[in-house]
Amino acid sequence: MAKQVWEVSKICYCEHAGSDVALEARLVYPAEFLPDQPPRVTAHRCSQGMTCNKFEKLACVWAGTNPDYDPFTV
Ligand code: SF4
Repeated sequence: MAKQVWEVSKICYCEHAGSDVALEARLVYPAEFLPDQPPRVTAHRCSQGMTCNKFEKLACVWAGTNPDYDPFTV
């Protein structure tokens, strides 16, 4: 059976959160009988994205409130 895990792919300082935050990728690893197949990336999220959605201020693309700003690419 395939296995899904969230792994940190990048860490950066976010001014909005006032701390380091992690960009995480959801990887789906194939079942054991397909060992040569690389994992698939099925989603991304910010480790503080849920907290950001509680504020009224626009945050970034990972919080879903500002598609024009991505702190992980700055
Ligand atoms: S969702 Fe965006 S603004 Fe909020 S902590 Fe993460 S990177 Fe910063």
